[in-house]
Amino acid sequence: MFNIKLTSIPLNGLFIVLLLINFSLCFIEDGYKRYNNYSVLRFKPTTTDQLHFLYQLAQNETFLMERSVDFWTEPGSLNSSVDIMLSPEARSTLSPVFASNQLTPSVMIEDVQSRIDAENLIKGRQSLPFPFGVRGSRPNAKQFFSTYQRYDTMMSMLDEIARSNSKVATIETIGKSFEGRDLKVIKISSGSSSGKKKIWIDAGLHAREWIGPSTAMYFINKLVTSVGKDENVDSILSKYDIVVLPLANPDGYEYTHTTNRMWRKTRSLTNSRWGYICRGADPNRNWSYKWRTGGSSTNPCSDVYAGSAPFSEPEPKAMSQYILKNGPWHMYISFHSYSQLILLPWGWTTDLPKDYKEMYRVAEKAATSLKSIYDTPYTVGSATNLLYVASGGSDDWAYGEAGVPYSYTFELRDTGDHGFVLPDDLITPTAEETFVAFKTMCDEIYPNK
Ligand SMILES: [Zn+2]
Repeated sequence: MFNIKLTSIPLNGLFIVLLLINFSLCFIEDGYKRYNNYSVLRFKPTTTDQLHFLYQLAQNETFLMERSVDFWTEPGSLNSSVDIMLSPEARSTLSPVFASNQLTPSVMIEDVQSRIDAENLIKGRQSLPFPFGVRGSRPNAKQFFSTYQRYDTMMSMLDEIARSNSKVATIETIGKSFEGRDLKVIKISSGSSSGKKKIWIDAGLHAREWIGPSTAMYFINKLVTSVGKDENVDSILSKYDIVVLPLANPDGYEYTHTTNRMWRKTRSLTNSRWGYICRGADPNRNWSYKWRTGGSSTNPCSDVYAGSAPFSEPEPKAMSQYILKNGPWHMYISFHSYSQLILLPWGWTTDLPKDYKEMYRVAEKAATSLKSIYDTPYTVGSATNLLYVASGGSDDWAYGEAGVPYSYTFELRDTGDHGFVLPDDLITPTAEETFVAFKTMCDEIYPNK
């Protein structure tokens, strides 16, 4: 079987080094990694053999790096889809292998680069000057949400929102990224905090999942600027204080704008011998709760590298310290993409946590109200049971370690037509419907006030 072929690829160190040097020289031209004729294929394994084959392929990190194969969604259970981005060479090499396993993929994206070009974000893309070019003008939310903004613009918008609404919002820098960028949270509170519960929201742990930070910024803008004007916002803020970290991995996010649109991890230099070549760890495999107990990698070149130790990455470390210091929290929400899922703990085991039923009840109500806006369907379930085992995630930590009773990860739009390269005209509708889901959660988890 081809499983044997795939796993028999030599694994000695020197061989890997040569391959990786080759890889980096070939695919990053003029500072931008290009994805010409890279395709995204969707597989639906219907037999355990097929699922096992895809699983084995996903585990073969050396092969994936060598051939530039990237699992956009990982194999989970039978009949659930697996999206794989393949270089043209990998696609021609693997096509007969897929065929021999009776796997017939559908093509989700024929040419990833053309989608990236359509985002108008490769060469020469500049962040919109803040506040969008007109000296002295007020920030224009419509312009802001018309496209995916760069780190500087996002932080300027954040500062401006707080500055012009200082009774409701304050900014705090909770730490710095590996490359020294500020990790800024905005604290949103109207009136007295007495008797209120606290909600934490973060976005952008994974660099390429751009819709998350934009959605978080939409939440911030909506909550802060609608006080006294929107009864839904007033209702939320009468019961909760909310802290939002809109860009949890700014180094990775900037790297996706300047160099490699498909970067996922942080940008740290690991302390391993591979650190010369492969940077960063997966900031959603690096949290201390059940760290490295499955579904993460010890290989620094892997996209799901757990890091050299729990909280080896400064970004999740700063987040966790702030969360522990400023609790107790009633709800934790993390925005990721894509797949349209509301995920509940646990991610590290198929077992369900003791509050699962209640968390599920709230998430189901949220999914129903979300769907009522643009008919966007979401699926609710525990991360491991809907997807696969992935330990060291922030939502498991929030629930298991920080004691947050409602802990959720949203996998935002879409379901794979665009994947990570979600067109910017979908920012606002995605954020709008997600906000409605959030309002429902707020009503459900603390109704009696
Ligand atoms: Zn993610």
